[in-house]
Amino acid sequence: MYPRLKISLEKLNSNACVLGKTLKKENCSMMIVTKSFCAYPQIVNMLLQNEYVDYLADSRVFNLKRYGDNSKKKVLLRIPMMSELEDVVRYADISFNSEWKTICALNEEAKKQNKKHKVVLMIDLGDLREGIFYRDEEMIFDVVKEMMGLEYIDFFGIGVNLTCYGAVIPKYDNLSKLVEISKKIEEHFKIKLEMVTGGNSSSYYLLEEGNLPEGINNLRLGEAFVLGNDTAYGNKIRGTFDDAVILETQIVELKEKPSLPIGEIGKDAFGQVPYYEDKGVRKRAIIAIGKQDSDLEGMIPLDEGLEIMGGSSDHIIVDVTDCKKDYQAGDVLRFKLEYGALLRAFTSPYVEKSFID
Ligand SMILES: *Cc1c(COP(=O)(O)O)cnc(C)c1O
Repeated sequence: MYPRLKISLEKLNSNACVLGKTLKKENCSMMIVTKSFCAYPQIVNMLLQNEYVDYLADSRVFNLKRYGDNSKKKVLLRIPMMSELEDVVRYADISFNSEWKTICALNEEAKKQNKKHKVVLMIDLGDLREGIFYRDEEMIFDVVKEMMGLEYIDFFGIGVNLTCYGAVIPKYDNLSKLVEISKKIEEHFKIKLEMVTGGNSSSYYLLEEGNLPEGINNLRLGEAFVLGNDTAYGNKIRGTFDDAVILETQIVELKEKPSLPIGEIGKDAFGQVPYYEDKGVRKRAIIAIGKQDSDLEGMIPLDEGLEIMGGSSDHIIVDVTDCKKDYQAGDVLRFKLEYGALLRAFTSPYVEKSFID
């Protein structure tokens, strides 16, 4: 059945090994982030058997539940909602936090379940998403001090997230601030932090350059693992596969039509006023997949002669005039995916997931 994702576990496993080897060389543990593939069970099972993977992490408790009982540590990346704390304590060993009120409530819940819960305190180094602002050291110290008094909370470490909202690129300088804060905490409270987690896939390039500040001992990798992308500068990571997941779609109509719609132009299905270039009569294929299942901008045709013209919820129109192959209805068109397109395809129940090895 189409559309479907063709997933190579062998290539994904190889990506995890390549990344893991680089991390281990620099004494970093590896957290693999499973949200882009909705913690799909076959992929999680492969990761469970991969010796380089130390932690499995996701932003949604829903996905943590899919991990099942196993030996890897489970991490909740998104600051927990007050409404999900029971499940957070039950399904996550570690959660990322930035609100004192939530940490207190976690302590209460952990007490109820008679279970210790580990907390990584998030520090905002300027990306302006989650975390206590790094300049507010007094607040950081206050929260740490109070947290150490909570019976059912283990203060596990600190972390930062970059290149998400503010698109700030991790560098030696800004990540050094995180290390500085960790050292101050360790000295002041006479403790050793287990984890200083220095960001996501966008921090990986620093490791390759040898510029990751000493003291960072963990990275959290999602896109680098699934797509082999260094997300700081958009480069490919050496030695990784970018085609471990391929989207396959089927042509349902193939006809020659003019490039310009006929009649007064209003708004398209998504409220946009479209722009059309007149290229004369073109060979156009309709594939049975749409914006509900993927992201047109993030689909990269494997057939280079092919151009995506546009689409709606459940149709995508592609121009196949310049393709060498003489496509017909029933033929399959294949695409590599960028992050957003991959995320949506994994999330869509209308896209079948199949494994080739
Ligand atoms: C999504 C996420 C990651 C993984 O990001 P990638 O760019 O896919 O590596 C890491 N940390 C946090 C907090 C996240 O939300």
